[in-house]
Amino acid sequence: MVTINCWRGVPKITITKPIVSSLFSKRGSLVVTVAAASFSSMSYDKELAAARKAASLAARLCQKVQKALLQSDVQSKSDKSPVTVADYGSQALVSFVLERELPSESFSLVAEEDSGDLRKESGQETLQRITKLVNDTLASDGSFSVPTLTAEDVLRAIDCGKSEGGSHGRHWVLDPIDGTKGFLRGDQYAIALALLDEGKVVLGVLACPNLPLASIGGDSRHSSHDEVGCLFFAKVGAGTYMQSLDGSSPIKVHVSTTENPEEASFFESFEAAHSMHDLSSSIAKKLGVKAPPVRIDSQAKYGALSRGDGAIYLRFPHKGYREKIWDHAAGYIVVTEAGGVAADAAGNPLDFSKGRYLDLDTGIIVTNQKLMPSLLKAVRESLDEGTSSL
Ligand code: AMP
Ligand code: MG
Repeated sequence: MVTINCWRGVPKITITKPIVSSLFSKRGSLVVTVAAASFSSMSYDKELAAARKAASLAARLCQKVQKALLQSDVQSKSDKSPVTVADYGSQALVSFVLERELPSESFSLVAEEDSGDLRKESGQETLQRITKLVNDTLASDGSFSVPTLTAEDVLRAIDCGKSEGGSHGRHWVLDPIDGTKGFLRGDQYAIALALLDEGKVVLGVLACPNLPLASIGGDSRHSSHDEVGCLFFAKVGAGTYMQSLDGSSPIKVHVSTTENPEEASFFESFEAAHSMHDLSSSIAKKLGVKAPPVRIDSQAKYGALSRGDGAIYLRFPHKGYREKIWDHAAGYIVVTEAGGVAADAAGNPLDFSKGRYLDLDTGIIVTNQKLMPSLLKAVRESLDEGTSSL
């Protein structure tokens, strides 16, 4: 009989499954390791179900905040408070739901936010707003028979996200709102949740509340009647699926199979500060891409790529920027399980086992197996030419 968890406000949990080996982590929680686990033979079914539920609920919370933000005449769009409330609320909700749904597992979460500012006097009003939002969202789901969470419960749930990740054991990786700039503009953003097991991404969920269910590829037209709100999910060895956030039946998706760069459109960040548009333009030109870039925020780019809306994603941050694992882990498995390949600019695979940062050479490129060799060549040539300020 062992009591575990980061979340200490809920009833005590008992581990019932056989423990192969165990040890106590620095924070006093029990870490369970199963020897010689083979990723492809592990089902991760209940973890995936919990992740889908957590990300869908977090999306509901974020949608509510974004709607209020966009309808408000009073709230300036440059005011950061809505995104702050939604960011913390999403992280608290995901942390709480994962712990609740997976009570027999050790719980480690690598996430962007911590509760420092919310514990200050100046953060009290924001904390009350977050606590209400989290409780309202849980109540709207109906499947949680939990007492109302207190502000202290919410702070503790947020602080579960302080894990450093790494190459041992299991770690959840969360970006509670990826693409906050898009969120504030009323554009694309995503709730991105993945699970690392022994340093490998084994499942991922991307909730993209504003992404149309229909293609957003370069040549498609959208009307205001297009249905929006997609949930992508992937599990190692099992492919990638997409459903509407309203809960339609999932369909299996696949990346574009085009071998012809002239038919390929490419995605990049909307924000020029996040990725060098001049460099990606040079790469696309060398490769023979004709279509203009499709610029959208967040890991919605990985989701769109996984269903073949475009064929390439180019990301070249400005010098000195270090990529965080929560900005790519969920998108990475969504696109690779759909048949895509992701690498850094030198062609190295992405390594999520090094802690909170991705350790990589210059940038991130994603495409299908057939286009990758010529894309890498175009990247190398463009970098050698020094077309930008790298
Ligand atoms: P995107 O929406 O694809 O432009 O990416 C959004 C993510 O970019 C955010 O979640 C940030 O973590 C990350 N980000 C923030 N600043 C930078 C930067 N200077 N360069 C690259 N990425 C950044
Ligand atoms: Mg992010």
